[in-house]
Amino acid sequence: YLARQQVYESNARSYPRRLPIAIEEASGSLVRDVDGNVFIDFLAGAGVLSLGHNHPELVAAVTEQLGVLTHGLDFPTPVREDFVEAQLSMLPDTMRDRMKIHFCGPTGANAVDAALKLCKTATGRGDIISFQGGFHGASHAAMALTGLVSQKRPVANGVPGIHFFPYSYCARCPIGLSPDTCATNCADVLERALTDGNGGVPLPAAVVMELVQGEGGVIPATVEFARRVRALTLQLGIPFVVDEVQTGCGRTGTWFAFEQYGIEPDVIIASKALSGIGTPVALIIYDEKLDVWEPGAHTGTFRGNQLAFAAGAAAVGIIRRDGILDNVVQRGEQIADRLKPLVDDPWVAEVRGRGLIWGIEFADPKNGRPAGGLAAAVQAAALRGGLIVELGGRDDCVVRMLPPLNVTTGTVEAACTILLDAIGTAKA
Ligand code: PMP
Repeated sequence: YLARQQVYESNARSYPRRLPIAIEEASGSLVRDVDGNVFIDFLAGAGVLSLGHNHPELVAAVTEQLGVLTHGLDFPTPVREDFVEAQLSMLPDTMRDRMKIHFCGPTGANAVDAALKLCKTATGRGDIISFQGGFHGASHAAMALTGLVSQKRPVANGVPGIHFFPYSYCARCPIGLSPDTCATNCADVLERALTDGNGGVPLPAAVVMELVQGEGGVIPATVEFARRVRALTLQLGIPFVVDEVQTGCGRTGTWFAFEQYGIEPDVIIASKALSGIGTPVALIIYDEKLDVWEPGAHTGTFRGNQLAFAAGAAAVGIIRRDGILDNVVQRGEQIADRLKPLVDDPWVAEVRGRGLIWGIEFADPKNGRPAGGLAAAVQAAALRGGLIVELGGRDDCVVRMLPPLNVTTGTVEAACTILLDAIGTAKA
């Protein structure tokens, strides 16, 4: 495959060197490369294509909008209103009336930056708390907020005042405890730092968290940890920001992952799957008590992608009509049934997931170290077998899956079979 991809690469560097294919076209959960090979796509544009490639109703929505209005800057437009209404309608009843939307497109990192700026403006504070192993994007500030060191190695941390705290990654406890010695959880460390007076960290403008660390290796926060962090932020008056760029728009089986934790954040960051078909859009949804920006306080040219609004409003309608969130839960259970038995394999440390975000973590049974080499071999064998999966986590030791949310039982079955075979091949 590699030689073929290089022909197509020309002078533009191509990111997925571990997935050396050049894609010609795609439909639903399948992509076809330029040589005619067909693959099941369990990457789905990095979680962007929630209804698969080229969903016909989304194609129709975009095509219709093309002849009406394509770029509307930040002006109100009918399709923008439809999109805003659709997004707000997906919030829990208890939040809908007090949340507002600010567009900050076009990418997730732009929305992360906006959330930081908003919280700094609203609180007048400068420090931010983030978590080890998290990922928030490739812009300067979003990368500084990223705790996944491998992702930011090329650039020294250039944004001051960002403090990293341990995240409830119990398979590799960040403070070296075992389930027997962990009296409560990682939130203790944060609580002590924030309440220690002179010895701790300054009261921050925000605590920013992924409820399932995606690039970090599909690590769901424990319920106790997330709830304690939320309670602490409420007690101390710190805006609590959830980065739902990857977990949002139904990925975990609820519209947003925070709904499964019984908590309500002050700011939600969303992007990736908002339009369902890859037309870029990013936004923050924030509590009206943080509504401090005057018009023009946070601008950006590409905040008015009407094609994204048209597709996104249609996507919400389809997700409701077709019971897509139920499908996410059921297909997630199907993946768990097929893949959880892998934990009996000495090289498999954990099989983790929520809804349709799943990861298999490989570790060397001799020393417990992340087995990135084996994960890479599994990814390569899966590709040869006709399945696209991604890697993530420490030393890229986690094989990650982000199938379209409308994936069928048969496709999940086929993908799991390919993956199990690939693990056998890679270990042989
Ligand atoms: N936050 C999270 C949780 C992400 O997973 C990503 C992208 N993988 C981003 C932010 C950045 O989004 P983008 O690449 O669109 O800037």
